[in-house]
Amino acid sequence: MTPAVLVWWQAVGIQASLVGDDLPQIASDPHLCRHILQNLIGNAVKFTDAGGVEIAARQQGGELQVTVRDTGIGIAADQLPHIFDEFWQADGTSSRKYGGTGLGLAIARKYAGLLQGRITAESTLGKGSTFTFALPLRLSLPGAEMAPPPAALLPAAPAGVGRAQPSAAAAGQGQRILLVEDNEPAVIQMSDILTSQGYRLQVARDGKEALVAVGQALPDAMILDLMMPQVDGFQVLKAIRGREATAHLPVLILTAKHVTREELSFLKGNHIQQLIQKGDVSRAELLAAVARMVAPAPPAKPELPPRARVRRQRSGKPVVLVVEDNPDNLRTMRALLQDTYTVLEATDGRAGVEQARAHRPDLILTDIAMPVMDGLDALRAIRADEALRSTPVLAVTASAMKGDQETILAHGFDGYLSKPVDADLLRKALRELLD
Ligand code: ADP
Repeated sequence: MTPAVLVWWQAVGIQASLVGDDLPQIASDPHLCRHILQNLIGNAVKFTDAGGVEIAARQQGGELQVTVRDTGIGIAADQLPHIFDEFWQADGTSSRKYGGTGLGLAIARKYAGLLQGRITAESTLGKGSTFTFALPLRLSLPGAEMAPPPAALLPAAPAGVGRAQPSAAAAGQGQRILLVEDNEPAVIQMSDILTSQGYRLQVARDGKEALVAVGQALPDAMILDLMMPQVDGFQVLKAIRGREATAHLPVLILTAKHVTREELSFLKGNHIQQLIQKGDVSRAELLAAVARMVAPAPPAKPELPPRARVRRQRSGKPVVLVVEDNPDNLRTMRALLQDTYTVLEATDGRAGVEQARAHRPDLILTDIAMPVMDGLDALRAIRADEALRSTPVLAVTASAMKGDQETILAHGFDGYLSKPVDADLLRKALRELLD
């Protein structure tokens, strides 16, 4: 059967040609199909500076296969397995140049699954990519003679308060989150992630809407995008901090924007809970950050996790894990700490996370730049682990510049010490966090 082919060649002077019109009618959901194709074609055009984009459709047995082929920048073989992950984008340079949220393909694959189809990708770096969306000619739902469009499978309409779908394991218990976001795929995905965990979601599409929404009913927390038309995230933050009712509203910044040092210090000065880069977070990490945000304020003297308490009683000394790849620094830290604390050691982030999981220390001190897994990824893994979520983690790093400190704290560390470590400052920081 002749495939139907639509070609965009030389993106500037778009040339389209349709070949063959003998494709079968399919019974599926037009909204989901359109959403998937928009994403694949949008990406192909976005990531192609020269050459073109070809869209072809053909019947293959009981399936319709749509291929979107481009001659764009391509994707490196080691990155290809990750492109369907939520918030994933190729290296920062290309995502910054091309923009986006890193959510499109994750949603597209999910929708393809709902349509009992699949999306696959092949790519050669520097040469181009081919994405294939295959779907059954007739979507079959159990018990349905002729497949109706799976409207029920669509996520709840993102505008207004979303449906709460609490589950026994859900982190949220109906807390109201105001999502301030103008990007539709991000709204759909966040709505999906948060409502499935029992949060009630209200969406504001721009800063103005957000300010009206918080004025009408105070949410439990806000997730704020920075780049929005007219009133942007910075202005929203400034406005809500200026109002008594919202001065202490927990705010999580979720942005694809590269935040400058000045902007970061503005955000910190306006008491944001955490800054998360969209291309840089998993579903579990995002949920952990939201759970921390809406958690009730900790008691003045935080309870230690039961295992840590038992160990402390047993050994008489709190357990401190030091994650550091430089043997001299490690030796120094050991010398400074071993009289007062039981010291565990790891020489890279991954080993540090393993040690933390195995021994549940009372506190973790970690270097940032390390082989295998750096301190930021280690922190993320620690925060994503239920048993370690409340363990204080201090960054110990050579980056002594003010902006770096702010960046480090914005990643969610509980504190910061610069190298070479000052013995008094170290002891003071540990005492404060442990006692
Ligand atoms: P976004 O495009 O919003 O960043 P997607 O989930 O749609 O998010 O894509 C994830 C990443 O996969 C992109 O950031 C890009 O690095 C890579 N990618 C997707 N499609 C293509 C393509 N056609 N060519 C090159 N890279 C692509």
